[in-house]
Amino acid sequence: MQSPSLTASNLSVRPTDEALWAAVGQETARQEGQLELIASENHTSREVMAAMGTVLTNKYAEGYPGKRYYGGCEFVDVVEDLARDRAKQLFGAAQANVQPHSGTQANIAALMALAKPRDRVLAMSLDHGGHLSHGHPKNFSGVFYEFKSYGVEKDTERLDMNRVREAALEFKPAVIMAGASAYSRGIDFAAFGAIAKEVGAKLLVDQAHIAGLVAGGKHPSPVPHADVVTMTTHKTLRGPRGGLIVCNDENVMKAINSAVFPGGQGGPFMHVIAAKAVAFREALDKSFAVYAAQVCANAKVLAETLAARGLRIVSGGTDNHLMLVDVTPMKLTGKDAENVLHSVDLTCNKNLIPYDQNPPSKASGVRLGTAAITTRGLKEAHMRQLGNWIADVLAEPTNTSVATRVRGEVGELCRSFPIYR
Ligand SMILES: *Cc1c(COP(=O)(O)O)cnc(C)c1O
Repeated sequence: MQSPSLTASNLSVRPTDEALWAAVGQETARQEGQLELIASENHTSREVMAAMGTVLTNKYAEGYPGKRYYGGCEFVDVVEDLARDRAKQLFGAAQANVQPHSGTQANIAALMALAKPRDRVLAMSLDHGGHLSHGHPKNFSGVFYEFKSYGVEKDTERLDMNRVREAALEFKPAVIMAGASAYSRGIDFAAFGAIAKEVGAKLLVDQAHIAGLVAGGKHPSPVPHADVVTMTTHKTLRGPRGGLIVCNDENVMKAINSAVFPGGQGGPFMHVIAAKAVAFREALDKSFAVYAAQVCANAKVLAETLAARGLRIVSGGTDNHLMLVDVTPMKLTGKDAENVLHSVDLTCNKNLIPYDQNPPSKASGVRLGTAAITTRGLKEAHMRQLGNWIADVLAEPTNTSVATRVRGEVGELCRSFPIYR
């Protein structure tokens, strides 16, 4: 097949901007040479990247297909319709808006559509795995709405839906938000839907982290239970950096469309929407369900291996692509652990654990995810190796011979599983 988008992409230009392309080259080498364990990252396909490097970046297309404020939109209309149709099919939703520039932008639009400024919103506590756009005082959400949070239980480190219900009955929110950035267990969207109905609130599900698992059939879908579902396209969904909103009600989508543009954004990034269309097509292929299943299988084995080596997995394990690892049994902070792992080319982030005794700048845990390393082809046996490497360096963080050995073994594995051949 001829691929004009590939030849027109930045991958085929002769670069003149030496300083810039040197940094891009170094970043490429970094991604190839390290195992990416940051749970919110992934490696997109070349075709996804090629779509972003096309002439579509030149086009202003304010509005929606068939109803634009600029001329010459006949071909970008085709692109946006492809993206919307595929998004609807992928998530079994009647309506889709593919324009949000990011997950946070998608949440701005969703809250604008579902609530008035200063309305009450109930969402998961940031300290227990929620997201900045779910009520952080410096985020738009916390500035413009009155937030209250629910969290996980101290003993189980899981959500207790009875407690969420009690909080909703007491607070009487206009909107309930469900979804998290650092929660390793399944979320009961049907129960959230029932609670929202009972208290007369709208349900906004932010499935940013697990969108790819929902698409791949490894997490129950929130779409039948929520008024609006927002997500990022670049995490487990493995598309370009961006946001997506789906829902079933046509009138709700009218409000969303207006809240995205002109509400919170100007011209859509048509090159990114093209890349979303490519990623949605990839996620509709049956190979993506195999990928999602492998992501979860890998996370389980990694968590089991770490637990067997004396690290504590928050809530005792994982149902999805990520885990929170309490590193205090190794007498380390999360910050120390992040640095030690980085020194052996394992990239991750420090993370608060529920009821953390350390401040966020130190934290007691690291968050590990398997979405990116599964994309590069790693399977269960590699997770056992990886878990043992992590435990080896965290058990003896100052032992340079352990670090040298592990870094060498990580490098060898990376060379055996190149990302972009
Ligand atoms: C990552 C994430 C977002 C925000 O995504 P950005 O694209 O970085 O704005 C929103 N909500 C949740 C739950 C997330 O995990």
